[in-house]
Amino acid sequence: MTSTRLTDAFGRQITYLRLSVTDRCDYRCVYCMAEDMVFLPRAQVLSLEESIEICQAFAELGVTKIRITGGEPLVRNGIQTLFSEVGAVDSLRELTLTTNGSRLSRFAPELAAAGVKRINVSLDTLDSAQFTELTRFGKMEDVLQGIEDAKAAGIERIKLNAVILRNRNLDQVLPLVNYALDHQLDISFIEEMPLGEVTHHGREDEFCSSAELRELIATQHSLTPSDYQTGGPSRYWQVAGSDSQIGFISPHSDNFCSSCNRVRVTAEGKLLLCLGNENSVDLKAVIRRHPGDRERLKQTIVDAMSNKPEKHYFYEDDAPQIVRFMNTTGG
Ligand code: SAM
Ligand code: SF4
Repeated sequence: MTSTRLTDAFGRQITYLRLSVTDRCDYRCVYCMAEDMVFLPRAQVLSLEESIEICQAFAELGVTKIRITGGEPLVRNGIQTLFSEVGAVDSLRELTLTTNGSRLSRFAPELAAAGVKRINVSLDTLDSAQFTELTRFGKMEDVLQGIEDAKAAGIERIKLNAVILRNRNLDQVLPLVNYALDHQLDISFIEEMPLGEVTHHGREDEFCSSAELRELIATQHSLTPSDYQTGGPSRYWQVAGSDSQIGFISPHSDNFCSSCNRVRVTAEGKLLLCLGNENSVDLKAVIRRHPGDRERLKQTIVDAMSNKPEKHYFYEDDAPQIVRFMNTTGG
């Protein structure tokens, strides 16, 4: 009989799924992708129907929050269908999205109509030229307009995600915080993670710890620790006189594994039990071999839980262990 809840060997309840709907993207952020990426052949990527099936199976198993990510989820053809179908699943408390914002203006009304209330938008700089350098293709103005349009469409809470690289955009930390405060947005700073080899910079030279960024922000703003929780790994701080939350995601300096409540499904349909671990279970193979067999899919997911490792290991002997890029796993 299929269990109705997902619990791993360490007693952690899995209630959060991050699903990547594509490995493709209209940007090539220097910390995320190489310039000449080879993307997956389309047949290897989950169809939208398969992605929807996986979301429904997880929801039936007790997952209450699903984040759609990529690559860039809004470049996936027909993605509105996935949002409206998954948004209609009753037991789901939250359907959300991480996007680079390039197509947000176009999709915001449909996202809001599907019940998406909170989204994450990646924005690493407010300097237009630097934005194009960091993303290799992007236009910052599209993203800022997308944020405005998402607010106007009724998306209630928007959080910026910023990756700070010491020799590139460290000077943008305070402008980004001030922009977030002025526009009633939340913001999280993510420590760069060693996922995939990038040619553009040495990761160690560019690394800025959350503690360092917090000290920098505290030179201008009075920060107090906040108990705000989104079910994610951010630790939040509040600025006096503002509702905005400032979060720090610190896979290097904080170990958030003990409270990990999530698993990921890649664009290829691999269930990853941990971002820092290569262990995976091929859900696409199960769906394609046994189409329509929801119970079998659910049992495969339940069985996989016992392989969720206790913690992540990004480095071994000081060398990055994980060779996947973030766009293939879904950030
Ligand atoms: N394309 C969407 C976006 O950029 O928001 C969603 C996918 S992206 C992989 C998700 C998040 O991962 C982004 O906020 C991005 O900044 C972050 N990211 C990508 N590569 C990273 C890395 N090596 N270390 C830390 N964060 C990374
Ligand atoms: Fe694309 Fe997001 Fe990766 Fe940037 S971080 S290259 S926007 S997937």
